[in-house]
Amino acid sequence: VIEIQNLHKAYGDLEVIKGVSIKAGRGDVVSLIGSSGSGKSTILRCCNLLEDSQQGEILFKGEPVTWGGTGHSRRPADAKQVLRIRTNLSMVFQQFNLWAHMTILQNVMEAPVTVLGRDKAEVEEAARGYLDKVGIGDKCDVYPAQLSGGQQQRAAIARALCMEPEALLFDEPTSALDPELEQEVVRVIKALAEEGRTMLIVTHDMKLAADVSDQVVFLHQGLIEEQGTPEAVFGSPKSERLRGFLSATM
Ligand code: ATP
Ligand code: MG
Repeated sequence: VIEIQNLHKAYGDLEVIKGVSIKAGRGDVVSLIGSSGSGKSTILRCCNLLEDSQQGEILFKGEPVTWGGTGHSRRPADAKQVLRIRTNLSMVFQQFNLWAHMTILQNVMEAPVTVLGRDKAEVEEAARGYLDKVGIGDKCDVYPAQLSGGQQQRAAIARALCMEPEALLFDEPTSALDPELEQEVVRVIKALAEEGRTMLIVTHDMKLAADVSDQVVFLHQGLIEEQGTPEAVFGSPKSERLRGFLSATM
């Protein structure tokens, strides 16, 4: 579904992604791990066209979604394409990013109704279903501030699901949560993996990565240092850097 080919990305003169290739087929869960600043979030943001890139391609269902041309001749994808990509690759952020002035149900319904123009009654039914699915079906009419962090993040996941995306992108979905709240979000992510959702997950939670991933990618300074199955990456890491990283984080 998503194929990243030889991606290069710089912020001004600072090259932060230096030729990364990652492939996630339908139903695959790929986790990105690596130390702070290694470029994990940048890769997700490029997939979702929240960032541009200078070289390489990102293919969504075989179709290039990256800017045309190379280097400075690259031009922005048109607004319709950007919308299509963001709809199909729905992102969940570390800080939930719920709208404070809307109820949980309104948060989940907002984009499908106002951005995609879908039928309000149908979206409401779907939204209630997704909120049930993540275990907060009873919180439809409250505001984000009235929920715990774990509940807010589950609402954010319901909101992403309500876009009916082809794949989900998670950027450290549990990092802002206390350990006990983290587990309720982990359970939801595991359930999504079991139902065969395609997901790219940036996480510092090695147990989550080990449990749900088909493939784990270890990034170091904008390059893939090592990648493989969770068994290979966690069980018999080859690179010295990966071994160091794992002993510091596990
Ligand atoms: P973390 O684990 O801390 O979230 P990360 O692996 O997600 O780190 P990125 O956020 O992708 O790392 O950042 C990669 C590099 O790009 C870092 O050196 C960072 O300082 C730099 N960077 C990120 N965003 C910007 C920006 N908007 N402008 C300039 N530099 C940036
Ligand atoms: Mg990050």
